[in-house]
Amino acid sequence: MTVLVLVERDGTEPADASLRALTLARSLGDTSVGTVVFAEATDVPADALAGYGATDVYVIEPSSLEGYAPQAWARALAGLAAETGATAVLAAGTDRGNEVLAHLGAITGLPMAANCTLVTPDGGKTHRLVRHRWAGLLLEDAVMEAPVALFTVATDSVAAVPAETPAAIQLHPHKPELAEADLVVRAVESPAGAGGASLATARVVVGGGRGVGGPDGFAPLEELADLLGGVVGVSRVVTSEGWRPHRQQVGQTGTKITPELYLACGISGAIQHMAGCASAKHIVVVNTDPSAPILSRADYAVIGDLAEVIPALVAALKERA
Ligand code: FAD
Repeated sequence: MTVLVLVERDGTEPADASLRALTLARSLGDTSVGTVVFAEATDVPADALAGYGATDVYVIEPSSLEGYAPQAWARALAGLAAETGATAVLAAGTDRGNEVLAHLGAITGLPMAANCTLVTPDGGKTHRLVRHRWAGLLLEDAVMEAPVALFTVATDSVAAVPAETPAAIQLHPHKPELAEADLVVRAVESPAGAGGASLATARVVVGGGRGVGGPDGFAPLEELADLLGGVVGVSRVVTSEGWRPHRQQVGQTGTKITPELYLACGISGAIQHMAGCASAKHIVVVNTDPSAPILSRADYAVIGDLAEVIPALVAALKERA
């Protein structure tokens, strides 16, 4: 019995969200846990995956499929699921994980459940699921009946726990069979900063809101994010004003983030924003208003003008380096 897990990378390491999906995959009790990585064979983080119980890595190299093409990634997973006789295919509940598995559902005609927090096999082809709805404000109990269960794992609900004994891992180069139509939609731009870390999986996020004052105000935040090995995230005001693209928005109608550190600058902390960042391990706030709602969720706060605080922080970090 095999389960397959799509692994995204954060720089050269497996993304934390993918390790959480791998942890949940292990709990399903299948004898082998295969992972699927789109990378050069030399860049596959095999030891890290073995540490989380992966027994196999199916490597799809850029010579077969370069860049992010959601339907092509799904086609590759469909081929591998059939080849390995997988009982389930999992991915992290990131933008990519949800998109690729939705395509996989469409290609195979199988049902797909997004943002699961708990999955329990219930005999035969049945799985009991608990999953997030409404950005995690509601939990839904569901039963999935399918020959192959497709689901993504909520990025903030399952802790990434290493296996007690690392598995002996095997690498398998895989060349997917793709149609031309699978490659029609593909990414031509990669997220900047931190070796390609995405907002959903970054360990540090420097957030900017209306208090940043305009598009030009983001340069110091970018610099700080770079120094901390993180990425910039923003509030909806910022995307609505056109200061930054929507892909950087944190919140109910943006991305859910789960970093170790969320440094929220000039953001008031509206409920729709907090829905996206409440799972950050530590929240540090920079705000001029000591009564801003976000302060009630902060571990630490600097009451001050971000135009002074952020450059001072950048200078201090540079001096230390
Ligand atoms: P504001 O609320 O205007 O806060 C600006 C903050 O900056 C204030 O606290 C102020 O004291 C501080 N400030 C000002 N100048 C400075 C300075 N120089 N230095 C330091 N601090 C300063 N919002 C999201 O973010 N994400 C979502 O996904 C989202 N989805 C939504 C969905 C729906 C259906 C709706 C109705 C709303 C949604 N919103 C979302 C919008 C949300 O309600 C808020 O309007 C928005 O989050 C406010 O953004 P903000 O904190 O940047 O701005």
